[in-house]
Amino acid sequence: MRYISTRGGSPSVSFFDTLLTGLAPDGGLYVPEGWPSLSSEQIKAAATAPYAETAAAVLRLFAGDELSDADAIGLTEEAYGGQWANPGITPLQQVGPGEYILELFHGPSLAFKDVAMQLLAGLYAHALEARNARLSIVCATSGDTGGAAVEALKGVDRIDLFVLMPKGRVSDVQRRFMTASGGDNVHALSIDGDFDTAQALVKAMFADQAFAREVALSPVNSINWARILAQSVYYVVTASALAVAGPVNFTVPSGNFGDALAGYVAKKLGAPIGRIMIATNANDGIARAFETGTYARTKASIATLSPAMDISVASNFERIIHEAVGRDGAVLKQLYDGFAQSGSLDLPGPAHDMLKAHFDAFGVDDQETRWALADCYEQTGEVLCPHTAVGWRARFGGDEVTGPRVLLATAHPAKFPETVDSVLGIMPALPRHCADLYERAEAVVDLPADLSAVKAYIRQNIGTAA
Ligand SMILES: *Cc1c(COP(=O)(O)O)cnc(C)c1O
Repeated sequence: MRYISTRGGSPSVSFFDTLLTGLAPDGGLYVPEGWPSLSSEQIKAAATAPYAETAAAVLRLFAGDELSDADAIGLTEEAYGGQWANPGITPLQQVGPGEYILELFHGPSLAFKDVAMQLLAGLYAHALEARNARLSIVCATSGDTGGAAVEALKGVDRIDLFVLMPKGRVSDVQRRFMTASGGDNVHALSIDGDFDTAQALVKAMFADQAFAREVALSPVNSINWARILAQSVYYVVTASALAVAGPVNFTVPSGNFGDALAGYVAKKLGAPIGRIMIATNANDGIARAFETGTYARTKASIATLSPAMDISVASNFERIIHEAVGRDGAVLKQLYDGFAQSGSLDLPGPAHDMLKAHFDAFGVDDQETRWALADCYEQTGEVLCPHTAVGWRARFGGDEVTGPRVLLATAHPAKFPETVDSVLGIMPALPRHCADLYERAEAVVDLPADLSAVKAYIRQNIGTAA
């Protein structure tokens, strides 16, 4: 399988090239050159097969000749093994007639990002070994991405991970997942600034091509195609398990649009999926785009109770617009050139219609998020994280769609104990597999928000793991 840029101006690359790089040179995002599909037997089997088997089938489709069947199953068995608190990996809870919650938070860092990151770690190791290379993976995080990356990449040969977090602005639980892993190759950097400052430092490092080459810099953000494909697997598994009752509809708490896009990918693979609801918080640019046909960036993201969804531009939205304009790179480039200049883009009519044929979108503010947390608890006894509560408020009603309805639960409530406690008066406990989080020793380095200081730190600390 080859990968092309959404903006049509870069040469196609291989699967492992997309894994190890970020944006395409023309500024676009890589997408597969065409859509593969699972056979109807594979889709049926996904209902009962071990999770790793379905994941391997999907991985094989997107990796093509670059990965053997044996390597694919080896990698997925490693990614979806004993480090998960539930042997089903992503178990489904029925909470009402035709209504379900898909629990994506049983991984090592208690957020759905583990599903992709656990597989990514093995893929990186595989690719680096084959190329006899090493990487410095750098990410800025406002919370969950950093923790999932640390849990997945700690102790992985040939990789140093540098996580830049805004000092004092991540929750206790989130910080500890980044600082207390015990991994020699994990470097948690507390930057004196906010998330945008940390993000700007990372961008500046990538822009310095000489530095990027010198330390073999690689990003681990949500535009990585391998993350999207890994997330499409739980849609395939869930849709297959529930499909006897009609096409399966999903509601997805959404930020960068990676997870919602994975639902569309699963649909393209042939999974019996109906509609997908994109649930946003007050950062509701996508919900507005559905209503008005204009996608606009906000000046800065609004801080909400669901911080992992606080984004001003949903990077993966570009991939679905690329689909919506019939995969025409020239049209897409024109739209995004305009977006870069003016901060907004008008969806062509047919593209807007195409989006509405697959998706709905709904924005939920903090007050409604608190209401939803309480409402779900009253109706079902389930304690949600604030991101999932956004989804609960936005979710499809039984009269809006036919077929089963599934809400994706994207984080464990114990990751956001203050919010949950303030609404429900319940302190959610950390699950057993990370109950000792507060006893583990933290290792963190304080750095000023200064590019040369961060670069110097990285230069001095690559390859120092024991
Ligand atoms: C990252 C994250 C989201 C948003 O996912 P996207 O793929 O960026 O849309 C939602 N909930 C939680 C808990 C997250 O960590």
